[in-house]
Amino acid sequence: MPDRLGPKLDAPLFDKAVIVGVGLIGSSLLRVARSQGLARELVAVDRSGDVCARASELGLADRVTDDAALAAQNADLVILCTPVGAIGDVAAQIGPHLSAGCIVSDVGSVKSAVVTAVEPHLPPGVFFVPAHPVAGTEYSGPDAGFATLFHQRWCILTPPEGADAGAVEKLTAFWAAAGSKVEIMTPAHHDLVLAITSHVPHLIAFNIVGTAADLEEVTQSEVIKFSAGGFRDFTRIAASDPTMWRDIFLHNREAVLEMLGRFNEDLAALQRMIRWGDGQGLHDLFTRTRAIRRSIIEQGQETAAADFGRRTVADPPADQ
Ligand code: NAP
Repeated sequence: MPDRLGPKLDAPLFDKAVIVGVGLIGSSLLRVARSQGLARELVAVDRSGDVCARASELGLADRVTDDAALAAQNADLVILCTPVGAIGDVAAQIGPHLSAGCIVSDVGSVKSAVVTAVEPHLPPGVFFVPAHPVAGTEYSGPDAGFATLFHQRWCILTPPEGADAGAVEKLTAFWAAAGSKVEIMTPAHHDLVLAITSHVPHLIAFNIVGTAADLEEVTQSEVIKFSAGGFRDFTRIAASDPTMWRDIFLHNREAVLEMLGRFNEDLAALQRMIRWGDGQGLHDLFTRTRAIRRSIIEQGQETAAADFGRRTVADPPADQ
């Protein structure tokens, strides 16, 4: 496993790292932080007693608690790994207990709304460096995480203008040691890029699976039986966590609506090509889209396996 993570560090980057929200992403971070020795002390926080009990059983942290405020005391790193809609509430809980010099970050899939929700709660001297690891699966909870989730995946940092360079550098080193490639952009640009690469594709998957489920002329058992024709790949995406995705659409509304407008126009053009028998137009588009798939494979973001890149349970997909 170590060869699938980032380079080992000579010394821990942080004295006390606190992860709030021990789900897929939080528990993966705890696992990689432990195996890479990224902090002297690891503290896991979750509001759910069952999740805390499971995190303790799994040995994910040195200390597990449901008290975020208490955990934040004397921390030099706090990463908020709850659904996007809860991140502001957690920031309000921990804000008064943070020490100067602490780096606060998050892993939310939306950035502008998170910045607006978190910044007012942080005292002066605390460095806020938002982040989004572009890595995930359709599974949730502390058992779903694994240490290599972030390997060779991008992590996008969206530091506010004038952010402390040392804090950005330290968080970059943290994600690099977790195996990620780090890119920096503004929150607004992040939200636009992710709207088209992740949020709208998920919306399409949720929609098509919902449409198929509502069909009357084709039975549900036929949909399941013949799903390998393409539908099956949408069902994996449409099985993603409902709370997480509700929050993403509610908090990245403008960018998603902007991209959906473009999508609808292009869909209408495709509809017209089919109606008028424009085979050349269809062929040209499908040739262009095939080339995009090839470049994604060439850049190592997917495999060329003939099963649409579907991996085994031991090596699950990581693409959200
Ligand atoms: P998850 O598996 O559902 O875990 C979230 C955890 O946070 C749950 O244990 C939840 O407890 C806990 N939580 C919720 N509100 C809380 C609060 N106020 N205080 C403390 N804990 C709280 O979710 P996830 O997939 O890890 O996603 C977490 C974040 O990562 C989200 O912001 C998401 O946008 C982002 N992200 C996800 C992916 C992905 O593919 N999953 C990829 C990149 C980024 P309850 O069960 O009691 O609600």
